[in-house]
Amino acid sequence: MICPQCKNVYSDDYVFCLNDGNPLIDESSEQETVVNRCGDAAKA
Ligand SMILES: [Zn+2]
Repeated sequence: MICPQCKNVYSDDYVFCLNDGNPLIDESSEQETVVNRCGDAAKA
């Protein structure tokens, strides 16, 4: 699983990114989900 925003990679056990709380997506099906949500400016 990968975070579409910060590109962090997690194991399948994770559903949300621990950094920004974005829902993780499957790396293999990443292209199918192209949703560019307006993320606020990165803090860190
Ligand atoms: Zn993230």
